[in-house]
Amino acid sequence: MKTEYQSIIQQYWPETDSIPSLVNGEFVFGSGGSITIYNAHDGSERLQYPDADEAIIKAADAAASEAKKTWWAMTAQARGQIMYRIGYKIREQLDNLALVECYSSNKPIRDAKVEVLKVAEMFEYYAGWADKLHGEVIPVPTTHLNYVTYEPLGTVLQITPWNAPIFTCGWQLAPAIAAGNAVILKPSELTPVSSILVAALAHQAGVPSGLINVIAGYGHTAGQMAIKQANIRKVVFVGSPATGKRIAVSAAEQGVPCVLELGGKSANIVFDDANLDLAVKGAQAAIFSGAGQSCVSGSRLLVQDTIYERFCEAVSQAAKHFVIGDPSDDATQIGPIHNQKQYQHVTDMITRAQSEGATAIDNGCPAIPESSGYYVNPTLLKGHNAMHCAQEEIFGPVVVAIPFKDEDEAIAIANDSRFGLAGAVWTQDVGRAHRVAKQVNAGTFWINGYKTIHVSSPFGGYGESGYGRSSGLEALREYSEVKSVWVETARTPAANFGYSANL
Ligand code: NAD
Repeated sequence: MKTEYQSIIQQYWPETDSIPSLVNGEFVFGSGGSITIYNAHDGSERLQYPDADEAIIKAADAAASEAKKTWWAMTAQARGQIMYRIGYKIREQLDNLALVECYSSNKPIRDAKVEVLKVAEMFEYYAGWADKLHGEVIPVPTTHLNYVTYEPLGTVLQITPWNAPIFTCGWQLAPAIAAGNAVILKPSELTPVSSILVAALAHQAGVPSGLINVIAGYGHTAGQMAIKQANIRKVVFVGSPATGKRIAVSAAEQGVPCVLELGGKSANIVFDDANLDLAVKGAQAAIFSGAGQSCVSGSRLLVQDTIYERFCEAVSQAAKHFVIGDPSDDATQIGPIHNQKQYQHVTDMITRAQSEGATAIDNGCPAIPESSGYYVNPTLLKGHNAMHCAQEEIFGPVVVAIPFKDEDEAIAIANDSRFGLAGAVWTQDVGRAHRVAKQVNAGTFWINGYKTIHVSSPFGGYGESGYGRSSGLEALREYSEVKSVWVETARTPAANFGYSANL
């Protein structure tokens, strides 16, 4: 009997219930080892498909290399118009894309819908940039004219994770093609379908065949082969810190730079003068929404000692306030952990934390829901910052609550981490809010809020959370080469030669 997921897949590929790659605008099926996708709600198998093989990856490299010439030869206005059409097509397909995303990423359908709409917004935002990437004239001595132009890198390789497949696909594709590049995208082997469908919609909207190629396959096979292709000019990786380091090494061996968007252990700091009702809701959303499977999760909750006990108690009641269960149910707010390996990691981390002395508040809730799937109750652990659970990414609905005395101690604890992706402060003292924001080492910081992001604002990490920036104008710069052009304007240009530097 077909699973619901196989039936959905067959809407797109009627001859099969397998998953292809998209290369040069065509769907092609791999011949590598088998990849299995599971339903996290009950642990059952959804489908199997073959890993992409080397021929697919070579074809993607060749196709991208040709397509980028056509794309860059078009006017910037034409590129922008096509990108607006991609946004429109994504909006038209909202329900289908959200369903696919819900079934592959095991995230609640309501979250999937929000993320699909964000992807449409990303294409529309960068569509507007496509014809505004003008260069600059630099004020050099009058003997010269110097101007700077921005050019595409060529072909970029993007490697993305399972926790936000369609979001990270749009997040990286839109600026890359707005800046004139061609793309090979290697989504997680567990969640390739929404990225393939976005790329197919882009082709329907009018991008040249092969401008966006999506490889459905494993990282250690297809991902590694893709890094080694001749035309790759940059690798943009979104995923775990351990894989990020491995990818940076592989890219360096090819002489190719990287952007790394990695994990975090973000500090969510609550002072006793905060609006505590809001801060409790914010702390719960910061860690429990998405079942904690978000890189920016507020996974370290730093609470002033004067309110520590009652604040922890209030946050730990989350399981009573959220609807937890089957992601495909419209009412569900929190779903399961995405896959068995991650579930094992989260539960092992809770066990180890307790063996190291962290205490979990018993909120009186039964295990939820009664299903054989990968569910973990929202869990608050009272502990301290030196504990393993406070230093390592858990990537589940588990928060470590750490008490602090005053502002200096809060900042010191927040910065006592090798990560620096995000953070937040809750206080009604406006001066303190900005002092803390300035001193915490994090690429994104919120004051009296959590998790707000927008395509127009830069995003990225400090420390082991990665390097380079996504979103906003910064992403366009990451996807561009910079060229400085010098013109001799003096009546006697030869006289200028003496100024030249011997770099
Ligand atoms: P992961 O590192 O296991 O996999 C990410 C991608 O890398 C997948 O496509 C995978 O197939 C590929 N990959 C794995 N090994 C590879 C190899 N040897 N060579 C080439 N590619 C390889 O990460 P995950 O478990 O899918 O995602 C969760 C992680 O992603 C968390 O750490 C989370 O914090 C992070 N994340 C970061 C951001 C951000 O913007 N900073 C956003 C989302 C997720």
